[in-house]
Amino acid sequence: MANERLRSLPSIERLLARPAAARLAAQLGRDRVRDLLRDILDNLRKELSEVRSQESGVEISTNGDHEEVDSALRTPHALLYEIDRRLEARGDQAARPSLQCVINATGVIIHTNLGRAPLAREAIAALTDVAANYSNLEYDLERGERGHREAHCQEQLSRLVGSEAAIVANNNAAAVMLVLNTLAEGGEVIVSRGELIEIGGSFRIPDVMEKSGARLREVGTTNRTRIGDYERAINDQTRLLLRVHPSNYRIIGFTERPALAELVDLSRRSGIPTFEDLGSGCLLDLAPYGVKDEPLVGESLNAGISVVSFSGDKLLGGPQSGIIAGTRAIIDQVRQNPLMRALRVDKLTYAALEATLRLYERGVAPVRVPVIRAMAASFAELGERAARFCDLVMQITQGRMRAAVEDGDSVIGGGAAPEVKLPTALVAISNEALSASAIAERLRAYAIPIIVRTERDRALIDLRTVATDEEAVILDALAAIAQPVALPAASVEA
Ligand SMILES: *Cc1c(COP(=O)(O)O)cnc(C)c1O
Repeated sequence: MANERLRSLPSIERLLARPAAARLAAQLGRDRVRDLLRDILDNLRKELSEVRSQESGVEISTNGDHEEVDSALRTPHALLYEIDRRLEARGDQAARPSLQCVINATGVIIHTNLGRAPLAREAIAALTDVAANYSNLEYDLERGERGHREAHCQEQLSRLVGSEAAIVANNNAAAVMLVLNTLAEGGEVIVSRGELIEIGGSFRIPDVMEKSGARLREVGTTNRTRIGDYERAINDQTRLLLRVHPSNYRIIGFTERPALAELVDLSRRSGIPTFEDLGSGCLLDLAPYGVKDEPLVGESLNAGISVVSFSGDKLLGGPQSGIIAGTRAIIDQVRQNPLMRALRVDKLTYAALEATLRLYERGVAPVRVPVIRAMAASFAELGERAARFCDLVMQITQGRMRAAVEDGDSVIGGGAAPEVKLPTALVAISNEALSASAIAERLRAYAIPIIVRTERDRALIDLRTVATDEEAVILDALAAIAQPVALPAASVEA
């Protein structure tokens, strides 16, 4: 029986001519659909030959699917139907882009795995415009001749952070590399043992230092480093005094690091410039929102640090980029470094960054920049949203999904402000038939993947990182998950 069906499997050419395949070919191309069909037929052949071995009494390792396969493929018509069904499922998968939008319901505001900062509408509009058209990226409109891309954002940044000059690189890792290589290649850089950090992934200060061609001169101890330690380490090889913001961890207790003023004073006396890697790049005092221990970019420059660097897509809330700000002499040197060409940013980044910075200049960042807005959301506001959302979940799933509001915390993420916990109202979802991880898995598999936290067998949704227009998508997904599982056709017949 299975034998015959095995022989009567349609040819790829015949399948390619069917409407389902033709539709998919318009999306994916004929070759890709041919590969998918070949794969589907291979699988069917395998499944059918397992059914056949069973029929002939040969013992094989079974996984219990054979009856299903058998009944689904009983007639040639059913066989074609099954192939169409599989092709559609595989086609949906294949048609999804590799990089796709997800909904961040974790409450981690700058989630590095989820692409860090979502952009402000103004930034999206600016980059869309520049993407679709020619631009003056490297063209001086006044003089009608070649210009420099580094001109963009430079004055704006300088005004905002209070520096003489600024320049934009691909990310902060690139910015650190550029500054070290420009100012200290072949020489020594003094850094405290308490600041030899690793940021998630692969950014380690000692490794970046080595690649930049500068030699690391460690001073002090893990928990305490004094200005005298830096001073004693200075010799004729010393090119730079480095200070690093320990973004993603804190040493607490018996600790000491020199004040900015002490470092600046030493720099003035020795004639050796200072560089501070600030990491997250905070342009705005976030203390009113409960984020207290993030250093402001302006403070370091104001204190007299020669040059600083920070990310554009952490606390700043803009596109991926690394911003270097400091004295004109140093920024000019960085600009002339041939590495700058390799680490520069494209027009889309400039467009999005400029529009984001404008929101800071206009003083509207707390309401317009999504990561700042998420930090600024009040507990009361989140509580109301969560309560309303719970009601809707119960209604839309007819009580099949239980939803309750619980107190919890959101975090900043992105290796910034590790100690900060922002009080939030969580929506705790549970279901009799599904574990929390099963709910989380299904939400992840939804057409727009939804990422949640799970804890004590509840799936937790933190609306702090969910845009209001995304709530409806989550509700749709929960409604789909809550559907009672349809009985297989065979058992209905029985
Ligand atoms: C995040 C961070 C970096 C790396 O910045 P990217 O923009 O991710 O390249 C470097 N240094 C510090 C202190 C950081 O916090």
